Amino acid sequence: MAEQQLKAAILVVSDTASQDSSSDRVIDTLTDVFPDGPWEKPITRIVPDDVLQIQRTVCEWADSVSPVNLILISGGTGFAVKDITPEAVSPLLHRHAPGLVHGMIASSLKVTPFAMMARPVAGTRHKSLVITLPGSPKGAKENLEAVIKLLPHACTQAAGADSRTLHAGGVKKLEAEAGVKPESHDHHHHHHDHIHSHSHSHGHGHVVPRAHTTPLEQRSNDPAAGATRRYRESPYPMLSVDEALKLVLSYTPDPEVIEVPVTVDLVGYVVAEDVYAAEAVPAYLASIVDGYAIIAPKAPDGSTSTKGVFPVASVTHANESGVLAPLEAGTIARITTGAPLPPNANAVVMVEDTLLVSSTPDGKEEATVEILTGEIMANENVRQPGSDVSLGSRILQRGDLITPVGGEIGLLAATGTKTVKVFKKPTVGVLSTGDELVEHDDPRTLQGGQIRDSNRPSILSCLKSWGIPAVDLGIARDTPPGELEQSLRDALRGVGKSSVDMIITTGGVSMGELDLLKPTIERSLGGTIHFGRVSMKPGKPTTFATVPFKPTSSERRSRLIFSLPGNPASALVTLNLFVLPSLHKLIGLGQKQVAWGLTPTLGLPLVAVILSHSFPLDAKRTEYHRAVITASPKDGRLYATSTGAGGVGQRSSRVGSLASANALLVLQPGKGSIGQGSLVEALLMGPVVREAAAIAAS
Ligand code: AMP
Ligand code: MG
Repeated sequence: MAEQQLKAAILVVSDTASQDSSSDRVIDTLTDVFPDGPWEKPITRIVPDDVLQIQRTVCEWADSVSPVNLILISGGTGFAVKDITPEAVSPLLHRHAPGLVHGMIASSLKVTPFAMMARPVAGTRHKSLVITLPGSPKGAKENLEAVIKLLPHACTQAAGADSRTLHAGGVKKLEAEAGVKPESHDHHHHHHDHIHSHSHSHGHGHVVPRAHTTPLEQRSNDPAAGATRRYRESPYPMLSVDEALKLVLSYTPDPEVIEVPVTVDLVGYVVAEDVYAAEAVPAYLASIVDGYAIIAPKAPDGSTSTKGVFPVASVTHANESGVLAPLEAGTIARITTGAPLPPNANAVVMVEDTLLVSSTPDGKEEATVEILTGEIMANENVRQPGSDVSLGSRILQRGDLITPVGGEIGLLAATGTKTVKVFKKPTVGVLSTGDELVEHDDPRTLQGGQIRDSNRPSILSCLKSWGIPAVDLGIARDTPPGELEQSLRDALRGVGKSSVDMIITTGGVSMGELDLLKPTIERSLGGTIHFGRVSMKPGKPTTFATVPFKPTSSERRSRLIFSLPGNPASALVTLNLFVLPSLHKLIGLGQKQVAWGLTPTLGLPLVAVILSHSFPLDAKRTEYHRAVITASPKDGRLYATSTGAGGVGQRSSRVGSLASANALLVLQPGKGSIGQGSLVEALLMGPVVREAAAIAAS
């Protein structure tokens, strides 16, 4: 059937084998299962039980220009704590293939009831078919054997072959070509019990765990199914903050380059290409002082001295343009700071080192001046042409941030640079979600469960202070259905407003039946949720997704969606923790580190601080405690005070916990509390205030 051989790849997921590849037997065992003919010899790789490494490998194989047709992933599909292969693979699948999963489990069940203990997933990503297999060589082999004959057909179709041509002749012909037969009726019935045991498990003696028989599709709730059918525990794996951040950065695209005119609006952009001086600074031999241009000796020699009385031949000011008359020997020329020296002059005597001897007859001009010092040498008190910036020298480097301090803009302006290549800033849309929300400036009195929308103004103001262009997307109601989807689609397309590269939403990611973000992203927009739960406090339900978006028929890009929790403190903490690093990557910060082969440090700066009092700890999650950091005038060190420690102080709904806060203390999980005087890490959000100012503010 396949004239061209199909490409297969085997990924072994095992901490042990990744350390010692000689301990692996899966690769050889599986390679032997492939019949010659349809298949090329599989390419192989071994990675540890690590979500990112699994995902990177699958993406590398499936997303390349000549993708692999079949990706087999062995290991990490059981119930052990470190078994995360299905969780790593599932979000990468564009279309799930529960039939293959059923087929593999059904065949294993004939061997052992422990087949129920596997959690395989299968499906397509782009043109590749991805299948997970057990980690044991025997189990992996049996599972692969159960489906291998059908795979050439599936892979050919997934790769884009016309299914009409493929299916001409009907199922019988396909079965014959693949060398498979339908099972006998008896068999079929037996088979049937297992496959459909979920749908009528009540009547059967055994209960198959839900995860085995449910078609493994998107993990979000189906909103149409109603509250009684929703998950009672989040189906998204809990990632650590570091794992989540790695995913954010790996899905944040590399920055795009644009060319822009040199104006004050450049502040906050990162330079994308080294910039060379088109003009020298200064362009001419310039005086550093107010005084008199003279012809000074190149080196001290007893014969010539600058001391004496000289006629003042001419005057040059800093704004002088045009041609200057050459200075004749024995004369001097009055000159102001920054002005060009007349030809022949090579040094300047400060006015402080001179005396007026005689004036012109009208008394208005100097006729002769006495120079009191004999020690002036050539080049004294002058700036050589190009000595500040030489023509063609590099003034800015790729990766330099154009700061509000002014040095970078100053260099560009001084050298007459007209345009500069910078990394494009993303446009970010900010959307609030929830039926209960009311505009913050709505004059009406709140009714019932209404809440003023505080997230949008605070997030928009953060973006503004970060110099990121933002679009206010308003509020999307939870009801009627479809409003959220429409708001998101409109924002991506730019209906009525400019289209956005990133969307930040708040609310709707908790566990209620009206928490629509995850289902809308997955089910309506065809997006991929990279994580939906993070082990942090506040901010546990923080969700990060990408959605495919086609701005024009030829372009294909994906857009980022950060769905932050609705509680205001959670929203702001997670904005700083996850969105800011992504924005930093998008605007090109860290490009220098990339060029040096280093991992860029993006996001808030991390500093060490001393606790002014004890802080309570969370038993399980890393807490981002909002605090005021002050620089002590006594010892110059940084001290942290909570913005509200006990009781409701750090409650995630309390936006006031961020008022006056300039840092998030990173408190690792633990028992009880961490004592006064302890040194902890803190993420700096705002400027460090002096102690006195902090006390006055509290
Ligand atoms: P949700 O995840 O949508 O259930 O929201 C969690 C909590 O945050 C609820 O109490 C919401 O009312 C509140 N909340 C959601 N969005 C906002 C917002 N934009 N401003 C202030 N509070 C909000
Ligand atoms: Mg809500």
